[in-house]
Amino acid sequence: MPLSERISRIKPSPTLAINARAQELRRQGVDVISFGVGDPDFDTPKHIREAAVRAMEEGFTRYTAVGGIDELKDAVIEKFENDNGLDYDRPEVMVSCGGKHVLYNLAQALLNPGDEVVIPAPYWVSYPPIAILAGATPVTVRTDEADNFKLSPSALEGVITTRTKLLVLNSPSNPTGSVYTVEELERLAEVILRHDLYVVSDDIYEKLLFDGLTFSDIAQTAGMKDRTFVVNGVSKSYAMTGWRIGYVAGPREVIAGMTKIQSQSTSNPNSIAQKAAVAALRGPQDVIGEMLAAFDKRRRYLVERLNGIKNVSCNTPQGAFYTFPNLSYYFNGRADEKQINDSAGLAEYLLTEARVALVPGIAFGADNFIRFSYATSLEVIKEGLDRIEDALSKISF
Ligand code: PMP
Ligand code: GLU
Repeated sequence: MPLSERISRIKPSPTLAINARAQELRRQGVDVISFGVGDPDFDTPKHIREAAVRAMEEGFTRYTAVGGIDELKDAVIEKFENDNGLDYDRPEVMVSCGGKHVLYNLAQALLNPGDEVVIPAPYWVSYPPIAILAGATPVTVRTDEADNFKLSPSALEGVITTRTKLLVLNSPSNPTGSVYTVEELERLAEVILRHDLYVVSDDIYEKLLFDGLTFSDIAQTAGMKDRTFVVNGVSKSYAMTGWRIGYVAGPREVIAGMTKIQSQSTSNPNSIAQKAAVAALRGPQDVIGEMLAAFDKRRRYLVERLNGIKNVSCNTPQGAFYTFPNLSYYFNGRADEKQINDSAGLAEYLLTEARVALVPGIAFGADNFIRFSYATSLEVIKEGLDRIEDALSKISF
């Protein structure tokens, strides 16, 4: 049956595809180690689970307001005020079925065919397809390992045209773990204001910051709040990926447009998960610190081991739970009679030879790299790296 033209222009999410492939291999009895999907390996904290049970038992099981219950909107408003010093009213915030759904609704509400969306690469896999599904054109702009993969004002300026409407920023970044400083954001804001652009600030990894860094959002920069959509959610900070709650704050007319789209597609996000999200945002925050300490140990271990492998370089990520080493040296090699040409070839080789699942850099628009998600235990990470090192040593040149 012929599908819509739209659907032929995107591919399935590669991160979710790798996850499905690793799970399928496991079902077949293959002992696969997965550095694939970015899904914290911790349980959702108990007080959050209890809030969900309470919601069910109290019969909070019906449709809610489309854009989320007032209680959750107020918890989101408090979060922005306390953590980010940003003031919003209820009509300026909205809740959707995960951060990904927020981004989808936003693109649908804001973008027209022909509009250009600037996406710094390496980027999270879903940004370009979400722009494409809204009929817009993603314009990727390369950033360099030597600059810690951060977008410079001049690189941004270099891709702006009369059609540029939106810039996507993601700090801490998936896949690089890079974090923008206030000064860097201020310099970008100068270009954004001069060209009258809007910004999506995807802050989903806000709480996962290392080395005592503090988080800054571009919406905090002078003149930027009215043109920034601050996107966040509970998936990563509270180990709640399956609950599907994300939220956004931004200009009210766009939030109203997004709510209209949500009313004609998913309706409200899950009522029980909304109550759980209230508990996450208003409850004790030390649960994040415990996860962060575990992530930090893994990060240090991974970076050191990766840099210890011949001809591999790996920047130290400052946030999130990914490392993004450069493995391009191995693209000139041969293994099992086959030439390894690129990140996809190397990831395939490592999956078949070492039984380690990784996401090739090409999925993030940066083919010299491979992404490791370290949302998995230190023991598993150790074993995975042993296998990778062994498999890389079998590549001949
Ligand atoms: N943004 C980034 C950068 C991500 O890595 C993810 C992870 N899936 C999301 C948004 C969306 O997360 P979720 O839909 O689970 O809230
Ligand atoms: N964001 C995570 C990742 O990059 C989860 C999967 C997805 O939604 O893409 O692996």
